[in-house]
Amino acid sequence: MAEHGHIFAAMLQEFDLAARILKLEPGIWRILTHPKRQIIVSCPVQMDNGEIEVFTGYRVQYNITLGPAKGGIRFHPDVSLDEVTALAAWMTWKCAVAHIPFGGGKGGIVCDPTRMSKRELEALTRRYVAEIIDAIGPEKDVPAPDVNTNEQVMAWIMDTYSMHVGHTSTAVVTGKPIELGGSLGRREATGRGVMIVTREAARHLGLNITGARVAVQGFGNVGSVSAALLGEIGAKIVAVTDWKGGVYNEKGLDVATLLEYARAKKTVDEFPGGTALSNEDLWGLDVDVLIPAALENQITMDNAPAIKARIVTEGANGPTTPDAHKHLHERGVFVIPDILANSGGVTVSYFEWVQDRYGYFWEEDEVNTRLEKKMIEAFDDVLQTSLKYTVDLRTAAYIVAISRVGTVTRMRGMYA
Ligand code: NAD
Repeated sequence: MAEHGHIFAAMLQEFDLAARILKLEPGIWRILTHPKRQIIVSCPVQMDNGEIEVFTGYRVQYNITLGPAKGGIRFHPDVSLDEVTALAAWMTWKCAVAHIPFGGGKGGIVCDPTRMSKRELEALTRRYVAEIIDAIGPEKDVPAPDVNTNEQVMAWIMDTYSMHVGHTSTAVVTGKPIELGGSLGRREATGRGVMIVTREAARHLGLNITGARVAVQGFGNVGSVSAALLGEIGAKIVAVTDWKGGVYNEKGLDVATLLEYARAKKTVDEFPGGTALSNEDLWGLDVDVLIPAALENQITMDNAPAIKARIVTEGANGPTTPDAHKHLHERGVFVIPDILANSGGVTVSYFEWVQDRYGYFWEEDEVNTRLEKKMIEAFDDVLQTSLKYTVDLRTAAYIVAISRVGTVTRMRGMYA
């Protein structure tokens, strides 16, 4: 394996804590801390100016013990093998916590999509897929969207793979357009999952969700749907911020109007239904629930001491630094970790894959009912584990994940 970097090291730190509590045997420990497969490819693309550029792409299948690797593909100038490997490991634990039959994978291409034309992006996507074609497939590895990739990129991946195997294969990727075998309810799935675990946490803590004050950082896919659905079950969304600024209203924001405003203006900043709020001031608000749903490393020791919320639901991946997390846990803040809180997205991706393989598609209600059941089960598994071992929910989520992958690894035995 290539040298570990600091992102993979951060994953290992979380893993080790849980593995020690579980008294995991050294052999399984070693297996679960090594990526199964790391693929590096060079993708030549003829650019619009006639020049040929070569882009580096990665696909890591961290662990495929429970099923095909599952995880997104990101297009970003900062993509590295270290980052992709750590993200693939996190997907392994997320799928195991969600209790779906997938392993963990992740992919990325080092590129700046903001400076590329649609034709260049299509050519790059198709070449990348051609380079990793033997490694992916419905039974092997099922990519999905991530940073700077979307439904259109998934459609190109599905088409390229299908052309290579000689028949239409919808189940090779998830996050596809509905017309191409996507699932109803997938777009809202992560936010819906955030709403469900927040509601369950409030119930556990004896906090009435009706009228509970909620602040949300990020008003994209995850943040906006979380806010809208929590509003629907009676919570009061008092604050929302995004990349540009934010808005506060102690009586509660009108989320539907805010959504229309954000769609038109591409920001919630200067929304007339409240007063201006900065990202820095969001953290210290007098609220019951705080939902970071934007970027990683947002809750740090600079702002964690100011947090008054009883529940922090990590809609984003990695929004809380380890020291801030420790601080919040010690103060009794109920932090619902990312690998549980935002697992609604991958759970409905699993439903999409199931529907594609069946060739039979569910009504949206059925998707939502099944998601609700899976999220409640996952929340209960993690909560009971945290009570049993007297640990925070993040460590508990790792314990659940490591136990599941470890048990199957032991049962399958060593092939040598
Ligand atoms: P998105 O691009 O739709 O929205 C991101 C939001 O964050 C936007 O409102 C943006 O304005 C805001 N933002 C960006 N920079 C900011 C800054 N510096 N300060 C405050 N706000 C900022 O993305 P998304 O799909 O909603 O994803 C958000 C997070 O959730 C990411 O960490 C992502 O990895 C994670 N996640 C998403 C899904 C999914 O299904 N979309 C699933 C699991 C995890």
